[in-house]
Amino acid sequence: MLEILAHSGPARLGVWHLEDKKIPTPNFLLNITSSTSRLKHEVYITPYWMRTSKAPVVVHYGTLGVGAKIRRFGILPSAGFGLDIHRELAELGVEKTLALAEQFPEHGAIIEGGKYPELRERAARKLASRRLLCIANGAKLCQRPRLLVEVVTRVREAVSPNTVLYLPGAPLALFPVLAYMGVDLLDASYAISSALRGFYLTPYESYPLDRMKELPCTCEVCIANDKERLQNSLPLLVKHNIAMLRGVMADIRESMRTGKFIKLVEMSANASTQAKAALRILYREKYEFLEKYTPMAP
Ligand SMILES: [Zn+2]
Repeated sequence: MLEILAHSGPARLGVWHLEDKKIPTPNFLLNITSSTSRLKHEVYITPYWMRTSKAPVVVHYGTLGVGAKIRRFGILPSAGFGLDIHRELAELGVEKTLALAEQFPEHGAIIEGGKYPELRERAARKLASRRLLCIANGAKLCQRPRLLVEVVTRVREAVSPNTVLYLPGAPLALFPVLAYMGVDLLDASYAISSALRGFYLTPYESYPLDRMKELPCTCEVCIANDKERLQNSLPLLVKHNIAMLRGVMADIRESMRTGKFIKLVEMSANASTQAKAALRILYREKYEFLEKYTPMAP
């Protein structure tokens, strides 16, 4: 369960208790791949077929029907058919996902429902007391700010405050505005796929490494290596990109502790069209959602 220490609007500074570990939130799950397996982090995510000695770990059980045996704590399989699908198919996906989830009440689950916010909300209500919920199609939702805001705010309101909400695949530039909407967990999939395409992340931008003149970062990778070394080593570029995620997450948490979080959200939104649009929609259309979590002046 998530213990909430403080709110900044709907954003939550918390501690997630998992496998006897205390994970500060908001945070990101580090996806275990061949290029990240040596990196240390506070919490990992791994596909069900991969063996790992790392802890704490969230197992992703994938797609319904592949026959994964549900053992270690994780996110149950779902029947996901994509974001832009017919309503009937989206409803079927929700039903099948919920039917399986009923058998494993201790596990996390995926909120399906395609591009239909009311279906997402219905799924969220049925799963409201889970320790962990994952919003399906995270990366695609991030490209459609209006739908993203609609889905995330409805889900956040439908589930328990102690439920950890995870949105996979988000670009780094959206981390602050997603945390503002009450998302507790993001992941490293965008940082890893950026590195695979030769992109170097900064907190606000993603640059093609081959066109860069210098490295504007002082992480241990960038201090000890030049651009050419990074270009020739995927693990080094991944390590730098993950260091960026870690820095932004620490900044998000620290700004919540010091009362500067909203300022950070607004500054970071200027660097991303999607983040800017999401924040504008939140301010204009989700006043009640934002206000609900803002303490009243005495
Ligand atoms: Zn660096």
